[in-house]
Amino acid sequence: MRCEVLAVGTELLLGQVVDTNSAWIGEQLASVGIDSYFQVKVGDNQARIVDCIRHALARSDAVICCGGLGPTQDDITREAIAEVLGVPLEIDDEVAVRIEQIFGGRGRTMAINNLRQAEVPRGAIVIPQVRGTAPGLICRLGDRSIYAVPGVPHEMREMIGRAVIPDLVAQSGEAATIFSRTLRTWGLAESTLAEMLAARLDALDRAVADGRLAPTIAFLASGIEGIKVRITAKAKGAQEAAEMVGVEEAAIRELLGSAVFGADEENMEVAVGSLLLKRDLTLAVAESLTGGLVGSRLTAVPGASDWFKGALVVYASEAKRSLLGVGDGPVVSERAAVEMATGVASTLAADIGLALTGVAGPTEQDGQPVGTVWIGLWGLGAAQGRLLHLAGDREQIRQISAISALDLLRRQLLEA
Ligand code: ATP
Ligand code: MG
Repeated sequence: MRCEVLAVGTELLLGQVVDTNSAWIGEQLASVGIDSYFQVKVGDNQARIVDCIRHALARSDAVICCGGLGPTQDDITREAIAEVLGVPLEIDDEVAVRIEQIFGGRGRTMAINNLRQAEVPRGAIVIPQVRGTAPGLICRLGDRSIYAVPGVPHEMREMIGRAVIPDLVAQSGEAATIFSRTLRTWGLAESTLAEMLAARLDALDRAVADGRLAPTIAFLASGIEGIKVRITAKAKGAQEAAEMVGVEEAAIRELLGSAVFGADEENMEVAVGSLLLKRDLTLAVAESLTGGLVGSRLTAVPGASDWFKGALVVYASEAKRSLLGVGDGPVVSERAAVEMATGVASTLAADIGLALTGVAGPTEQDGQPVGTVWIGLWGLGAAQGRLLHLAGDREQIRQISAISALDLLRRQLLEA
């Protein structure tokens, strides 16, 4: 079963509204195992909408049109569908009554235009409206289906869940579920990850070639948040799909080791927080070039007060010396980083101190090039510095420094 999505609305093409509906519908289709190979956007133009629907039905079993069901002259999805079906639009009495009731109930008089929403292509199944005033449509053309739902996101979601997905599943005759899990990694390039997983990827390819069910693996770069490895499985039932993903996840975690810091929504600060909590340790942070980014990320984690003492932003060299006891000499140095970490742990009475000092740019500092960053870590039985040479502009260097410091701490917590 293949179903595509056609988002209707000139505002989508002009960039005035971001097409979040298609993304959401795509997710729903995937969750019930319906293949979706195309998502198209088209403006409010009848000929072009007709063209898009015909194209969709030539290569898929069904198309979901969202938007353009409203009462105004530019809402012409109904007309376009009727044209594709080769039938006229007719007033559906039940829909008309319901629209009148909705207006009556709100104490408003109905514009004559609103009755346009009661027009449906002859032979169409009406999806009764519960939220807005526009009903949805299910239309058959031979063995193909055309669905129409409103563009307003909450109305669209309600109708897709109540009527469209159940109808699609019934039409497809095969109920399959897709389950996926995303492992989040930090510190490795995509090519390195692919190399580490090469044997696994080959095995999955062979399984598919032999006609066996096997999960698929995809790499998704997500900027400064690292690279995600998404495992997806399709099976008859949810449990079977989840089991396939579970087996693959275990194998991948084994191969990637500590490069994996979390799964799905679990970000780096959540990973750090749960390790600190598990070991019953507290953390304090001293930040120079990141100016509070690390503290901000840590305090975004619910329950951070159990393990996070605070972060001091010590930007000027003088602040580093007077507040944290950093000695004379260059402040972008291993010694300064370790002194900052030691100082902040003692000032805030934490078990662990983490510190960042470096050159975010755009100009070099004390002869040190832009991107030179020292991370200091005190606690867990040691005091150490780690030197990074980062590329990018000022903001990228600050962001990567923040997540790198958290990752360094995470790895230390895993080992020590
Ligand atoms: P209405 O009865 O409100 O006119 P409609 O079915 O005609 O509903 P549209 O006019 O196409 O829907 O869209 C109404 C509003 O819904 C848009 O202004 C926009 O804010 C939102 N919307 C429409 N399509 C999308 C989309 N694909 N993604 C996200 N939001 C959308
Ligand atoms: Mg509209």
